[in-house]
Amino acid sequence: MNYISTRLTEMGAKTSAAQAIKTGLAADGGLFMPEKLPSLSSADFDNLAAKSYPERAADILSRYLDDYTYEELLADCNEAYSEERFPGGAAPVVPITDNIIALELWHGPTCAFKDMALQIMPRLLSRALKKTGEERRALILVATSGDTGKAALEGYRDVPNIDIQVFYPVDGVSRIQKLQMATQEGNNVDVCAIRGNFDDAQNGVKSIFSDKKTAQILSDRGYFLSSANSINWGRLAPQIVYYVSAYCDMVTAGMIKAGESIDICVPTGNFGNIFAAYLAKLSGLPVNRLICASNRNNILTDFLKTGIYDRNRHFYTTTSPSMDILISSNLERLLYLTAGAKRTADYMKQLAEEGRYEIDADVMEKIRASFTGFFCDEEGTAAAIKETFHRHGYLLDTHTAVGYHCAKQYQESGEGGRKILLASTASPYKFAADVLAALTDRKAEDTLNAPDALHALTGTEIPVPLRGLAERVLRFDKVVDRLDMLNCVLEFASAGKKA
Ligand SMILES: *Cc1c(COP(=O)(O)O)cnc(C)c1O
Repeated sequence: MNYISTRLTEMGAKTSAAQAIKTGLAADGGLFMPEKLPSLSSADFDNLAAKSYPERAADILSRYLDDYTYEELLADCNEAYSEERFPGGAAPVVPITDNIIALELWHGPTCAFKDMALQIMPRLLSRALKKTGEERRALILVATSGDTGKAALEGYRDVPNIDIQVFYPVDGVSRIQKLQMATQEGNNVDVCAIRGNFDDAQNGVKSIFSDKKTAQILSDRGYFLSSANSINWGRLAPQIVYYVSAYCDMVTAGMIKAGESIDICVPTGNFGNIFAAYLAKLSGLPVNRLICASNRNNILTDFLKTGIYDRNRHFYTTTSPSMDILISSNLERLLYLTAGAKRTADYMKQLAEEGRYEIDADVMEKIRASFTGFFCDEEGTAAAIKETFHRHGYLLDTHTAVGYHCAKQYQESGEGGRKILLASTASPYKFAADVLAALTDRKAEDTLNAPDALHALTGTEIPVPLRGLAERVLRFDKVVDRLDMLNCVLEFASAGKKA
């Protein structure tokens, strides 16, 4: 299967899956997409239903990554989604109400859904280096506002031929997030706090990436730079799996009949997770509508309503920080599938130049046939947490609460006759302080004992990875200026360090 750029210029020529995963972004600035999409028959669904999660993952991934053998993929999936890493199963479905069913994607090492992709993607990259004859080590640089950094560190730790270095704003992440990163284990990892905000960290990483001199120095030392962000095909493909897997489990559990269509609601930021659900639909999964749930940064709700994407607006910081995004990069892939490469390139040019674009009516019609959007403000988020816990005994995190609120709005809009599968993207304990505040009508306090207080109040279990953080060995406590980031990189990638 060939991969092509969403902008399909000559520069973004066809490439293999391994090459797409290794490079991340096409040379013309577009994102990689498979040239054709595989399709799943009802017999395929029957077969998949009888399999374990790692087997389902290997089966589905093998349809997209045909330069990897099934055996390679199965070996990687068995490790990535092992019982040790995902105790009790990788992506269980749990009913909240009769019609809203949670797809819990947070049973992995960092208790958030990014683990679903970041546990497998490093293994795919490690193999891609071999498959493309790359002799250098990959150095992954990540700027994080919290969650992605920890999930990437856990995913890449001790993976052969790869090192990872994470930068975070020293005052821009919660105390729990800070401690999670500072106590990270593994022999190929490094963590640096920087004085500044997330944008400083992000811009610092970007300027290191675009500096040719640095690339040369690193190359001489046997390294090349690579990124772990959510536009990489190696992160997107594994996300298709859990929607198919959840459908199989819903049929097996008798929640739906085989072939019955469902709606899927996804708390959305960068549009990666919901786009993976769309790919599952295009491959034959019986999905009626995809409900795009946003927080107060409701640029996608407006886009789905008006066809205008306009980032010239106020940016809000919310209690669902992983959805505080004004540029949803993976939307480009949806534009490519509905408008074609030429118009996509055009829209993206307008976005870069004016911060805004308006899509054509025919494209809008195609998108609306599958997508609808709702948003929820901070009060709605807190109310959803409270109501779901008191009425249904189910504890939501802040992101999933946005999704739940939007799923309810969809039901009330009169369209919601089907079962709604709600992507549950984080453990409530990951955002314990805000969840606690919602339940008690108090202001959130960023303390390390919020998980204990939440446990005491609700009687729910603290996930193992979040227990006893304060007792773990602190490994990384450097704080540097933004201008020193390059030195940190060069120091970490010192010649001959990794034999
Ligand atoms: C990253 C993240 C999201 C947003 O997912 P996208 O794929 O960026 O749309 C939602 N919830 C949580 C908890 C996340 O970490």
